[in-house]
Amino acid sequence: TDVTQTITTQMLSSILEDNREFYKQGVVADYIPELGKMDPKAIAFSVVKHNGEVINVGDVQKRFTIQSISKTVALMIAVQERGEKDVLDKMGYYGTNMPFNHFANLETTGKPLNPMMNAGAILTTGLIEGEGDKPLQKILDMIRYITKDNSIEYSEKVYLSEKETGHRNRGMFYLMKNNGLIEGTEDKLDNYFRQCSIEVTAEHLAKIGYFFANQCVRYDGDDRYKSSEMSKLIQSQMLIAGMYDGSGEYARNVGLPSKSGVGGGIMVSVPGRIGVGAFSASLDASGNSVAGYHMILDLVNKLDLNLFK
Ligand code: GLU
Repeated sequence: TDVTQTITTQMLSSILEDNREFYKQGVVADYIPELGKMDPKAIAFSVVKHNGEVINVGDVQKRFTIQSISKTVALMIAVQERGEKDVLDKMGYYGTNMPFNHFANLETTGKPLNPMMNAGAILTTGLIEGEGDKPLQKILDMIRYITKDNSIEYSEKVYLSEKETGHRNRGMFYLMKNNGLIEGTEDKLDNYFRQCSIEVTAEHLAKIGYFFANQCVRYDGDDRYKSSEMSKLIQSQMLIAGMYDGSGEYARNVGLPSKSGVGGGIMVSVPGRIGVGAFSASLDASGNSVAGYHMILDLVNKLDLNLFK
């Protein structure tokens, strides 16, 4: 039997309590001023088991911005519309030793490294078809579908805060425009800022993690987007670059495809099995939630979930 079936509320609760204080070892992101207002003590941990059962502990109602975790869903939509080759030819599948907002090799090869770091993600969203905020609406609709929650929206405040201060992202956008990778106006960059500002809970992340872990089949069994090619692509990207320059160390210790966001969320896919969502706003130097990482590590060690064991 699958050991993940033994996960209980009590198990997650005790893992959460063991790691609660780790927020003290990191800092809340404040390069986006609105994010700096987050409560560093809020913490949540969620699992969607293989049978679709949801377990939530901690501040389960707490909404935070999805940030970079949205890049997985944006990649799925761009690839659905244009095919994997067309999208990935414009960037790469490369891993990285660079922070999330690095210009990476935009100046050398002229292309972003991968769709998980900012440059590639801005390009990916720019490749989704539709005028104005249509691409953003598609990302929102897909997240609402995967989570079965139509109340999900983006935060106008965080969006405006990102737009106002996102000079590096704007720089990348124009470099890629200069390199002929992106056409059109800053509307495309706005969609990226908005997708990062979508507000979710740890449970929502666990449901998205479940979806990518299970060939894009939803936790209730709805399989209209079923595709093992898609889930392989997304999970492999998460594994090589989902935790930025922390990806290598993380892959060794946790050994599971995971994606973090500077809002403090981490989404994990346990291939073919479960989805996990962790939240705590305080981040390490790579931009990954410290308490989130430790909760995930404890769960992985307890159940021996590291793929490379
Ligand atoms: N909106 C953030 C940015 O573009 C996303 C970064 C992240 O979550 O790592 O700076």
